[in-house]
Amino acid sequence: MGYFRQNIEKVKGYEPGFQPKETEVLKLNTNENPYPPSPAVMKVLTEITAEQLRRYPDPIGDEFREAAAQIDGVRPENIMCCNGGDDLLTIAFRAFCDENRPVAYPVPTYSLYPVLARLQDAKTIEVPFDGEFNLPVKLTKTNAALTIVCNPNAPSGSFISVGELASLADELSGILLIDEAYVDFADENCAALVREFDNVIVLRSMSKGYALAGIRFGYAIASPDVIAGLMKVKDSYNVDAVAIAIAIAAIKDREYFKQTTEDVKKARDLLTEKLRDLNFKVPRSYANFVLAEAVNCQASVIYDKLVQSNIYARYFDLSGLSDKLRITVGTTEQNDRVILALKEILS
Ligand SMILES: *Cc1c(COP(=O)(O)O)cnc(C)c1O
Repeated sequence: MGYFRQNIEKVKGYEPGFQPKETEVLKLNTNENPYPPSPAVMKVLTEITAEQLRRYPDPIGDEFREAAAQIDGVRPENIMCCNGGDDLLTIAFRAFCDENRPVAYPVPTYSLYPVLARLQDAKTIEVPFDGEFNLPVKLTKTNAALTIVCNPNAPSGSFISVGELASLADELSGILLIDEAYVDFADENCAALVREFDNVIVLRSMSKGYALAGIRFGYAIASPDVIAGLMKVKDSYNVDAVAIAIAIAAIKDREYFKQTTEDVKKARDLLTEKLRDLNFKVPRSYANFVLAEAVNCQASVIYDKLVQSNIYARYFDLSGLSDKLRITVGTTEQNDRVILALKEILS
């Protein structure tokens, strides 16, 4: 067409997981929470006033910042609200990367990072994980302006300890963004690092742990100076009034959050065992999905056969992943339906 900048013309764009329309479909392809959001959220929704919609929202969502700060053990100045975690990624690439300021990250990981790099004309330095998904030593040597570590990592579900990430932050001269979209299903998180390191940004999402993928809400945790810098880059009203009200209600309902995330973790560990019983190689997952390596059958074939049973998993035709399926953890009943279907496919 010729209207667009060259890098926009050339980039393929991010491909989201398929959103099937039929209702009898079991959708385990985009890591949504199998449970509904907190009942407190639904109550807030019924109480939204016309006045809240008529006026612009709080541009920085101060009430949410206070609630999140308390929960994460930081101060409100350490928090920036975002229109989903992906909004923070866009803001970070715009803030830190350009033609001369590359981004580095271990691979395989979230496939949005290279897309955002292309849009920004930034070089990508992709450092391969080893077979056990340990933090690659070479990541400290890249001189990147922005280093991203997805932790727990997608699509492996693996986890790097807070201590190791603290050492990495210490060694890097640029920004370390720790993508904690799935941390609600892990045992520890990196929030406290922002008090010690002014180059750490922690990404949080309400889409997975809080079952709110539909409203688009996430947040950054970082030093007050970094938060102030990121605020210069964000859209002036990047989170809407309804989303702010919902996010506050959701994050404050600690009991519901603990209960549902614990249930997902239990269901995940059970699903892992049952997949291993079916001869899949499944590394321990710290997220709400598992990565299952098919040993005796092609993963793409299993994927197609699951679709015929109205079950959607995620298949990545990428190096290192083409023999694996990523399956979102559902309720125990949903997971049993997957196991049953897999038994039939493999028999
Ligand atoms: C889901 C996800 C995000 C953020 O998603 P939002 O829905 O925009 O909050 C960020 N990183 C990874 C790896 C994810 O899977």
